[in-house]
Amino acid sequence: MMGGTFDPIHHGHLVAASEVASVFDLDEVVFVPTGEPWQKSDRDVAEAEHRYLMTVIATAANPRFTVSRVDIDRPGPTYTIDTLRDLRAQRPDAELFFITGADAMAQILGWKDAEELWSLAHFVGVTRPGHELPVLDRSGVSLMEVPAMSISSTDCRERVRTGHPVWYLVPDGVVQYIGKYKLYNNKNNAVNNG
Ligand code: ATP
Ligand code: MG
Repeated sequence: MMGGTFDPIHHGHLVAASEVASVFDLDEVVFVPTGEPWQKSDRDVAEAEHRYLMTVIATAANPRFTVSRVDIDRPGPTYTIDTLRDLRAQRPDAELFFITGADAMAQILGWKDAEELWSLAHFVGVTRPGHELPVLDRSGVSLMEVPAMSISSTDCRERVRTGHPVWYLVPDGVVQYIGKYKLYNNKNNAVNNG
């Protein structure tokens, strides 16, 4: 599983998921868009339904990629512990892997429920340009290098807001979705040839 705000989903997320699935021989990668992200309550986050649909569009072509609504359908802020418990309940026999980028991995180490998290899933921390992977030597956590994608949703939103292209940073269908619904203060419609 890979949790995220996915506001919007971009090729950094998709490459990380694909690479971890390949290396760990995973049957499925479940993308889980957050409900209300409590870490991001200081900024406006696009409606959950938009973030969910962009994630569906971005992952539709890959037979191993699926999208779960557990976090967006659960009222209140999203906590990863609840996500893991819900996915565990839906897949009682599965071995769960939780994929996170270097920045998120560093945060998780500080969470109060960290010990319980390790017991629910194997954590895979992946490299992300501009962020140091924390040094970790413990069972239940793997660190791995994935092809470097210097892309963030923050940068994509800023590009749309200022009229710069996001083609090739996010999947084509996501560029078009952002344009169609004029997300991210996109006054001139992001679908252009720029
Ligand atoms: P924002 O800038 O809004 O925080 P983001 O690009 O960090 O967006 P998130 O939805 O916050 O995307 O991230 C979801 C997960 O994907 C996190 O674990 C994050 O570390 C990881 N991730 C995001 N971008 C990359 C990337 N370019 N390479 C590797 N991992 C990434
Ligand atoms: Mg982030």
